Amino acid sequence: MTCHSRQRGYDDRKIATSVDSIAHLILGKRGLALEFDERHVEVATALVLRGEHVRARRVLLCPPIEGGQYDMARKPCRLRACPTCSERRAWRLAGKLEQLASGYTHPVVLLVAAPSRSSSDLKLSVSELKLKLVTLRRRAWFASACPRGVIAVECPPTNGGYRWNVHAHGICDVAPDIREEFAARAQADWSELRGAGAVFGLETLRNESGLAQYSFKVGGEKSWSPMPDTVTAAQWDELDHALRGARLLIAWGTKRSQNPRCS
Ligand SMILES: [Zn+2]
Repeated sequence: MTCHSRQRGYDDRKIATSVDSIAHLILGKRGLALEFDERHVEVATALVLRGEHVRARRVLLCPPIEGGQYDMARKPCRLRACPTCSERRAWRLAGKLEQLASGYTHPVVLLVAAPSRSSSDLKLSVSELKLKLVTLRRRAWFASACPRGVIAVECPPTNGGYRWNVHAHGICDVAPDIREEFAARAQADWSELRGAGAVFGLETLRNESGLAQYSFKVGGEKSWSPMPDTVTAAQWDELDHALRGARLLIAWGTKRSQNPRCS
């Protein structure tokens, strides 16, 4: 049995030992004859340590990416906990974000941030970000200055892990001559709606697909969606509970038929 190592400088014997034991633990003797993706092994180990054997098994058996390509013949596990499926989902949403923003007249980069207040209020914080954004967008001055936008919500833990840095990157449509005034008013209203730490900022758009890919961290070392082995057990439980079924790509001013159905 081998592991597709991504050259992170680990001791090969240590990897072999941990792959052997984790595969045997999850799959029994069958596991000794299979090859696994290194990240799948790491995540499956974290899940097993938390007693989540069923999910660990699904992640371990999820087809890895071979030479930059997904193995389309094998069924992916589609779990949020899976690095491969999470990346695949991020690529799909980045493409959707880029596609929606491609028709904007004056595209500009948007960052909206509304950090949570504690480590256990992620679900509330994400829904608050969405609801308060709807309130802001319904204000007449906002609707006329920024008729369209598409953003991707991201929820990493803050440094120290005491809260969640709930924020969203994306692209909106605001004419250059009113941008400064719009940004100042939007920041003031957003602070009033969302309180301390709230950010509503615009930046010049240099590369649409680059921004879409950055929004979903595609192709990077860091995952858009935190993985079970990069957060504590309590944080993973909170993420798992808060983001189940949550739609994380938000678009406004888009025809209903074009609205993103995927989350
Ligand atoms: Zn998977």
